[in-house]
Formats: sequence, structure tokens, C-alpha cells
Amino acid sequence: MGSDTERDDVTSVLIVGVGGQGVIMVSKVLATLCQEHGLEVKQSEVHGMAKRGGAVFSHVRFGRHVHSPVIPAGEADVLLALEWAEGLRWLHFLDPENGTFISDVRKIVPPFACRDRGRGVAPQYAKTTPRDVLEKVSVGYALDATGIAAKLGNDRAANTVLLGILSTALSFPEQAWLDVIERFVPPKTREINSAAFLAGREWVKEATVPEGEVLPVPEVDTVLKNVVNRLEITEEWCKGCDICVKFCPERCLALNDAGKVVVKDANACTGCRLCEMLCPDFAIRLHKELPAEVAQ
Ligand code: SF4
Ligand code: SF4
Repeated sequence: MGSDTERDDVTSVLIVGVGGQGVIMVSKVLATLCQEHGLEVKQSEVHGMAKRGGAVFSHVRFGRHVHSPVIPAGEADVLLALEWAEGLRWLHFLDPENGTFISDVRKIVPPFACRDRGRGVAPQYAKTTPRDVLEKVSVGYALDATGIAAKLGNDRAANTVLLGILSTALSFPEQAWLDVIERFVPPKTREINSAAFLAGREWVKEATVPEGEVLPVPEVDTVLKNVVNRLEITEEWCKGCDICVKFCPERCLALNDAGKVVVKDANACTGCRLCEMLCPDFAIRLHKELPAEVAQ
């Protein structure tokens, strides 16, 4: 446990999600920003499953003096969740009196929740709703960050939308965040990531309602209902191992006569990303796109 004196001096941010969502990028941006403002920073992270949909988390602690890189349970000032069930899993780390909870309502079903499922069967997934959580925490934001990012043109910028929300809970200037984000994202995505960050900040302004009024709370899965799933296959990278075909819960994929994977039922794809996460050769990529009438 950190001493009371250390707690007063140190801010603790716990960032959680699943592999491929950009948890580590978020934590690096925050840590760099703190260092550049003369603060001592300690980070501790687990990202062994970063490409396969496994849990990923990062503790970031900063202040004048930080002794331990690990946030004790119940002492996180901010819990930032890039995936809804991961947010629930780590909720007991949030300071129950003063902590801020920020989460995408995006649902990513872990690979093992999908084993032996018949087509169309709902996977096992946490039942707790955003409203249940927001009623329990001191300050809470549950939003469709992936939908916001998809509307800007790239659902993978959801982590930067959430950075925009996080930035409103900390006291660093807007431009300092933008400068650091620019250094940590691929050059061709700089523009969209800046827009995503600003969209997150804007969302907080709109979500702040006068006392006594109720904030509209999105349902988990909003994104899946609104997006079109498009599978991109890089045929020359596919070695025909059959893993994606066997694991696809909706039986969307098949191998053709040349031993390459093909999409046989695009309409049945729920966008769970299992194929993308499990393919050892990165030959499948899932794009979540908004229908033309929604994107306008
Ligand atoms: S994302 Fe992949 S595994 Fe999931 S339903 Fe679609 S094709 Fe199947
Ligand atoms: S998992 Fe990858 S390499 Fe294996 S069949 Fe599917 S696309 Fe091809």
C-alpha cells in the first residue's frame, strides 16, 4: 500500500483493454507528457497478448516523488477502459470516493468465450450495464468511443477519443497532449488521431449536464449495431492453416481449392475480430465502417 503522504502527491491512472486496442500507446503518451512537465513517472504494464485479444493493462503513476509503479486496489484516481468488460474487471482498483471511470462501451468477446459455439449463439459476456456502473462511481463516463472514431474515418482511433476524455480529468494543456500524441501515432494517422482527441474533449463538454438532469447512457454494443463489418484478406500471406475457419463463431470463412481463406458469408460476420486476432500471419483484417447514410 502507498502511504497517505505518497497518495496525496501521486496521481494514479490505470489503463486497461485487450490486445491491439492501443493500451500501451495511451500509457506512453501519458507518461511522456508527465515527464515533459517535470514529474516523476513510474509505469508497470502487462502486454503479453498484445496481438491476440488477451487482456492488457498499464499502471501509470506520476507526481513529485513516486515510490511504487503499482497502483494498489482502491487507489486509482482514473480507470480508463478501452473495452467494457475489462473496465468491469478492474473496477475495484478505482478509488471509490473520488475516482473517475472512463470507458468505451465497445464489447470485444475474448477468444475462449467463443469456443464450441453454434452459429448466432450469444457469447458469454458481462451483463453489467453502463448505468449500473455510473451509479456506483464518483465521476463516470461511458461512451461509444469506437463509434465516434469510426465516424471520423477510423475506428482504431477510439483510444485517442478516450485520451481526449482523460485529458479533461488532468491539468496538462490541450496542445501539449496533441504534440505528444503526434509523436506516438503513425504519420499517416496523425490528422485523424488529433481529430479523435479533440472529439473526446468535445464529448465531455456536451456530456456535462446541469445538476439534477440525467446523462444519456449508451448501451453496450451500440457500435456493433451501427457498423458494417468488412473483411480484408491478404491472400499471399495466408498459408491455409484453417485456424480462422475453425474458430469463426459464425462460420463465415472457408478455404478455397487453392488452400487460401475466402469469405463465404459476409452478412453473418458479427465483427468479433477473432479471425484477425488468431491468424498467425496477419492475413485477415476487419474494418468496421459506418453505412454511408450514417457517416454523412
Ligand atoms: S470477425 Fe472473423 S471470426 Fe468474427 S464473425 Fe467475422 S469472420 Fe468470423
Ligand atoms: S488463420 Fe490466417 S493463415 Fe490461417 S487460414 Fe486463416 S487467414 Fe489463412
